[in-house]
Amino acid sequence: MAVIGFIGLGNMGGPMAINLVNAGHSVKVFDLSSEAIKHVVTKGGLAASSAVEAAQESDVVISMLPSGKHVEGLYVSSSQPLFDVVKKDALIIDSSTIDAATAKRVCEIAEQRGLSFVDAPVSGGVAGAVAGTLAIMVGATDAQFAEAKPILLNMGQNIFHAGASGAGQIAKCCNNMLLSVLMAGTAEALNMGVKNGLDPAVLSQIMLQSSGNNWALQKYNPYPNVMEGVPSSNGYQGGFQVDLMYKDLGLAMDISHQSGSPAPMGSQAKSLYSMHKSKGNGALDFSSIMQLYQD
Ligand code: NAD
Repeated sequence: MAVIGFIGLGNMGGPMAINLVNAGHSVKVFDLSSEAIKHVVTKGGLAASSAVEAAQESDVVISMLPSGKHVEGLYVSSSQPLFDVVKKDALIIDSSTIDAATAKRVCEIAEQRGLSFVDAPVSGGVAGAVAGTLAIMVGATDAQFAEAKPILLNMGQNIFHAGASGAGQIAKCCNNMLLSVLMAGTAEALNMGVKNGLDPAVLSQIMLQSSGNNWALQKYNPYPNVMEGVPSSNGYQGGFQVDLMYKDLGLAMDISHQSGSPAPMGSQAKSLYSMHKSKGNGALDFSSIMQLYQD
């Protein structure tokens, strides 16, 4: 069993760290929020007083932070960067969703210093983090992936080697851009059906058995009370926030521009989420884009 330093114990990082504890690892945890640390400590985590303390004697360091600037700050540019203190043979895994350019830059700096850093963003939401069923897409060398996979299997079910450094972040962006398009399109079709007198449950059944079938209809119907146990039937609480989808679409647009890959559908979805967010809906689940059509 490994000694693991885990930094960033929010909605996702908290349950991921707990799953590592449950798998028998010794997990030293740190977050800027002492409440977040306390929660993981009640489940068997070991409190660290700083990110440095969590990381410096650990075999594996995992971070789950909001964005690229937090990740770069933690490892490279803060007053006590972790690259200065980690063990030379430690495996460093960043599971935050960040821009691929930052992920690659931090990886290059790690390489220059003889350290091993991989990007391993996740998909599956808070429910997947709690259940340990996340999909995890890794940007790494073959050797790094082989080393990371057994650790990642404690937090996820489907672990993919997406490619070299940064490829995990690109794969995550492609997936979430497609998800946003599917969700907006599903809401658009349901709204048009309902406005023309159809029952949303009946229309959902028809589309599920027809060529419009997709993940949003199967697992995450955006129309209230069509499906049990999803955010749309719970006032759009919980789930995956509009703010985070908007952030991910911004990352996708950056990749689109940098690589010259046209993304008109993703761009349209970003505009829709931008309008929805500007109406004060940033904290709602992303399936609440339904309300933009209903309004
Ligand atoms: P969150 O805001 O709930 O958690 C982030 C945590 O990081 C907070 O507890 C914050 O205090 C901590 N933090 C920030 N800077 C820190 C620092 N320097 N040192 C220590 N702790 C620090 O966010 P989340 O929902 O857990 O998401 C984390 C990452 O996972 C994001 O990149 C997000 O895009 C991605 N993600 C989220 C979901 C989801 O459904 N929430 C799904 C997939 C991926």
